This record gives sequence, structure tokens and C-alpha cells, in this order.
Amino acid sequence: MKRVALKPGREKSLRRRHPWVFSGAVQRVDGAPQRGDSVVVVSSTGEFLGHGVYCPKSQIRVRVLSFDEATPIDEALIAARVADALAFRTRVLAPGVQACRLIHGEADGLPGLVVDRYDDVLVVQCQSAAAERWRDAAVAALEPGAWRAVMERSDVEVRALEGLAPRRGLLHGALPDAPLVVTEGAVRYRVDVVAGQKTGFFLDQRDNRALVAACADGRDVLDAFCYSGGFTLAALAGGAAHVTAIDSSADALAQARANAAENGFDEARVAWREEDAFAGLRALHAAGRRFDLVVVDPPKFAPTSRHVARAARAYKDVNLWALKLLRPGGQLFTFSCSGAIDEALFASIVAGAAVDAAVTARIVGRLTAAPDHPVALPFPEGAYLCGLRLDVT
Ligand code: SAH
Repeated sequence: MKRVALKPGREKSLRRRHPWVFSGAVQRVDGAPQRGDSVVVVSSTGEFLGHGVYCPKSQIRVRVLSFDEATPIDEALIAARVADALAFRTRVLAPGVQACRLIHGEADGLPGLVVDRYDDVLVVQCQSAAAERWRDAAVAALEPGAWRAVMERSDVEVRALEGLAPRRGLLHGALPDAPLVVTEGAVRYRVDVVAGQKTGFFLDQRDNRALVAACADGRDVLDAFCYSGGFTLAALAGGAAHVTAIDSSADALAQARANAAENGFDEARVAWREEDAFAGLRALHAAGRRFDLVVVDPPKFAPTSRHVARAARAYKDVNLWALKLLRPGGQLFTFSCSGAIDEALFASIVAGAAVDAAVTARIVGRLTAAPDHPVALPFPEGAYLCGLRLDVT
């Protein structure tokens, strides 16, 4: 039998249903498991803790899928998890949502597996050896014949930590010849599932885009790190007088322009700026530009906990300049998608930025990912996205 025995005292997190076994907790490995093999995890005294998937290369040596001894990892378990994930979305999402996350890794009992839906196209991303091993079973349970296409976007850097090479390709069906378009609220977004960032779109910000749209009427808006124009288009649809949108990626801005055209917005209402946001915010300030509403949604500055100090400086800097760019009575919507930076730390970084910007900022709302990106209660690491809505005077 393939078995992983833990060191004394290291069974506690598993008993609390945390699904990861770190390499440092492992006492002994029996049966020479290979990457992707199922193992039984036992305590130092030999008690059953869980059925998991082994990854010899990763710091996360085992990802546990089942805490029930009588339920090993097989096609039936994967199919049940997929069915649960789909049923959950029908409960928490408003009817008619066309683009959403169907499977969100650990929170859906499928560690490292992400599946996003864009209308009739699915995009699968395997971020772990466990997801890699059980990908085909999960896809089968999603009834690939019911979709126009199932695309795989397992081309993310985290795979290297598990010794997995990047992979991208069509698993089923065919992508439409015309751009794939999804409607969210009053906006039509083109989604590039082949070359776009993540699986093509930032689905986690759906509710926050709606909030920005609701606050944008008549406002002069700045969208820093705009990508394909998620917040920019939401603000325009919400009646913004003008939006200044910054991104350093030419591809992202091309996509954003195409999105503005797709919705028939007057080009005169948007200024696209291809530049580094750190420099761009300073340049706007130096030029005397000021805004009523600013969105700051940067990439993950802290990929791991080792990067927290450097990331904190970057978050402080962009928020400092964003706050300086606000007119009195303006609003800042600011985000971090670094899992290593929790809500409390993020708020204290932004508080430091407000002191340096010499403004008074009050928290009007605490923002998080949309409900199709749930967090498993025993797995707080899953709460990667946090944000603040601030009133600034
Ligand atoms: N707000 C977007 C998602 C932003 S993702 C949405 O809701 O869809 C982060 C974006 O920051 C990416 O598009 C990336 O190209 C851009 N980016 C990364 N580093 C940057 C920098 N230094 N300056 C400006 N943009 C940057």
C-alpha cells in the first residue's frame, strides 16, 4: 500500500480538514508512490487521516481529496465533486450569469483544479499534480458533449512547483471563429480563452464591477491595471463621464479597445494609456489630473509569503498615488489578489498610504471575490482576493 506517515503532532491540520500535507510534516513514505498516485495519509500512530494525491516534487507533498476512509479517490468521487460544484453555482449565482467559475480548486474539494465557463465554452486549468491526474475524470463529469468547446489552459507558472510542464490546447469541440462574447450586466465582453490572462477574464471581480458601475454615473474615473477593460467598461456602462485606463500590456489594451467598440461606447469617453502604472499615476498627478473614482486592481505582487515585504511596498506606492489623484469626496476601489497578504495587512498598508498622501480615508465596504469563488472554511489560504471601497476626503 502507498502510504504517507506524518511526524508526531503534524496530524492536527488534517483533522481540521485542511487539505494540504507539507513536506516537512512527512515522517515516512511507503510503497514508492509516483506523482499523481493516490496515497493514504496516516498519523504517527498509524491512524487514518485522508486519501490524497502524492507529488514528490512539491512542498505540498500530498493534497487530500477525501477524509473518509471508506471513500477512496476514484472516478465516482470526482464525478460527485463536480456535481456538487455545479449545484452550488446554481444556488449562489443569479440566474442568467453567462460567465462564471464552475470549479474553484480546494473550495470544491478538487485541489488545484479550476474550470471556468464562458457561455458555451469551458476552460480547464490544472494547477497541481492532483488536478493533472484527475483532469479527464473531471472533464467527463462535465459532459463535454454538452458544450461547444472545452479548452485547456494549464499554462500557469505554479505548475512548475509540482514538476509539471505548461500545456494549452483544445480538449473537446471547436472554438467559435468569431470572438467569444459574454454579457455581464449591461456590458458585452470579448474573452480570449486561448491567449488571454488567467483563463481569459477576471471572473472573480464580477460583483465589484457591478458596484463600480453603480457608483460611476457622471464621474471622472481612473482604472489602473485595466487588463481587457473589465472595470473601464463597467464604469462606462454606469454612466461615467470619462475613464482613463492604464495597462502595461499592449495585448490587454488592444482587447480593451475592442471591448469598448463591441459595446458602441464613444471613443472620446476613454483615454487608453499603455504604460507602467507606477510611472503613469505619478505622471497624471504631475500633470494636475484628478479623478472622482479610482480603481486599483494590480497583478499578484506577492506570489508567495516570501515576497510579502516587497509586495507591501508596491501596494503602498500605487495606493499612495491613487489617493493623491482623488478629488475630495472621491472613492477608491483598491484590491490585492495576493493570497499571502490578508485583509488586515492590506488595510494597514492602505492606511499607511493614506497617512503619506495626507488624506482621510474611511472604509465604506470590504470587497471580496464573487460567490462562485468560495473559500473552504478550513482553508483560509483560499481567500486570495481582498479589496476596500474607501471614501476619501
Ligand atoms: N482589473 C482587471 C484585471 C487586472 S489584472 C479586470 O478586472 O479585468 C492585472 C493587469 O495589470 C494585467 O492586465 C497586466 O497586464 C497589468 N500590469 C502588470 N504590471 C503592470 C504595471 N507595472 N503597470 C501597468 N499594468 C500592469
